[in-house]
Amino acid sequence: MNRPPDAVWNECLEIIRDNISRQSFRTWFEPLNAIALDREDDESKLTVQLPSRFYYEWLEEHYHSLLRKTITKVLGPSGRLFYDIVIEREEIEDDGSHVAGGSMQLPARDRASGQPTMDTSRLSVTGLPGQFGTSPFPGQPSGIATKGQSVPRMFSLEQANPHAMVGVRRAEVDPNLNSGYTFERFIEGDCNRLARSAAWAIAQNPGSTAFNPFLIYGGVGLGKTHLIQAIGNYALENGTAESIMYVSSERFTGDFVRSIKQNNAGDFSQYYRNIDLLIVDDVQFFGGKEKTQEEFFHVFNALQQAGKQIILSADRPPKDIAGIEERLLSRFQCGLSADVQMPELETRIAILKRLAEETGTQVHPDVLDYIATHVKSNIRELEGALIRLQAHAALHGGEIDLVMARGVLRDLIVEAGVSLTVEEIQRVTCDFLKIPEDLVRARTRKREVVQARQVSMYFSKHLTNHSLKTIGLHFGGRDHSTVIHAVQSVEDQCDTDSAYRDMVEAVRKKLELHTR
Ligand code: ADP
Ligand code: MG
Repeated sequence: MNRPPDAVWNECLEIIRDNISRQSFRTWFEPLNAIALDREDDESKLTVQLPSRFYYEWLEEHYHSLLRKTITKVLGPSGRLFYDIVIEREEIEDDGSHVAGGSMQLPARDRASGQPTMDTSRLSVTGLPGQFGTSPFPGQPSGIATKGQSVPRMFSLEQANPHAMVGVRRAEVDPNLNSGYTFERFIEGDCNRLARSAAWAIAQNPGSTAFNPFLIYGGVGLGKTHLIQAIGNYALENGTAESIMYVSSERFTGDFVRSIKQNNAGDFSQYYRNIDLLIVDDVQFFGGKEKTQEEFFHVFNALQQAGKQIILSADRPPKDIAGIEERLLSRFQCGLSADVQMPELETRIAILKRLAEETGTQVHPDVLDYIATHVKSNIRELEGALIRLQAHAALHGGEIDLVMARGVLRDLIVEAGVSLTVEEIQRVTCDFLKIPEDLVRARTRKREVVQARQVSMYFSKHLTNHSLKTIGLHFGGRDHSTVIHAVQSVEDQCDTDSAYRDMVEAVRKKLELHTR
């Protein structure tokens, strides 16, 4: 077989492209290059270079089966896939020294058993830095990771000095978690998929995945606190970590400052260093607080050296956080950073639906659509809108329907009114009247089509800023007088025929859902 490796890989990419979303293809496959195609013992071995070990884990976790099928299709049953993982940047060793970049080779999972073919112990002798001694497969036990944390925790938050060691009596660390922030209650969407998957992997095996530290970043109210606490709650419930603690960066700072004033900074430091799973929320607040950063840096190092898990959140990507020391920033970045974004419409609806179900409130689906269509700033506001309706219904009685929702949320949802296009109006109207959309632009004079056309013209006049002439053009190049006639005709029928009027009102409601 003398084919160049990239020709074979391109053939694979073609197949992969057809089987996954464009976004996933771009993220996970487009950056990859094949670097070798060897034949050994009747096997064809294709080696693909991966930009980081995270790619390795992600591909094996999410695309293992697709890759296996693809390789078999392109190289035949004797095909094997190998990864060459580049260690891109210099990695910082625990003692602060740097390890230059390099690469390592790992085989894809075994074809038949689906088990990793690699001998994990080999990983530790490759001399690679950081977490390479641990399992590269999230969720699978590592052959070599040692989590010998059976020493009882001996401190308690109840004491006068919250960070002092108590001696013999075992006391739990207060995890400070909100038990409502669970994975079960966290709706997954494209907006948070990577962050959620990594969070899930970490929750199963804190400290033993390559995602350490794990940093989630994104705007206000997009689920960062929920997700990082979900890791803590899972670990607590399933015993995957012994001492767990969630702390806001403000509280960390406050406690630290207090400990200095009270002359027990040593206890403070010791306290944090004994935690197995430390979750620090909103680290952007460390910006400009040098002493706190210094302390956090030491705690961070101590935990990482001991194989403990660190989870962080920030309201922006780490590189944009002002006033954070370079060495701390690079610490934040040496694991995995994943962002959360505002969910797309379907996910927004799913979040509202879940909330309505949880609270046992009957809410008309139109209302959920209405809120999800209009509230696009963040999830907290999305929830706030629904809670407001529930409160209103509880106080004043009555159903939560569109009329009530529009009234109660008037100040929250400023309906921009007119930003529909004529095409959208045609689509929504025809959809409602069950007429193929292109007929309103065609010549046909069938009664139902004429009705749909007239109603679309009527709303085009009222809901867009277009001139009658332009509207006519959107209806297969009709004259402006045709539009005038249509509008008049709709108004007349509304006056005389109540069934017709209800139909027009129903279309108006559908259209209002689409106004932004
Ligand atoms: P952040 O920390 O990013 O400001 P939060 O985690 O406080 O945001 O989330 C705000 C609210 O939205 C919380 O009530 C949370 O439960 C909810 N929420 C956020 N993301 C989701 C999601 N994907 N599924 C369900 N609820 C969510
Ligand atoms: Mg938060």
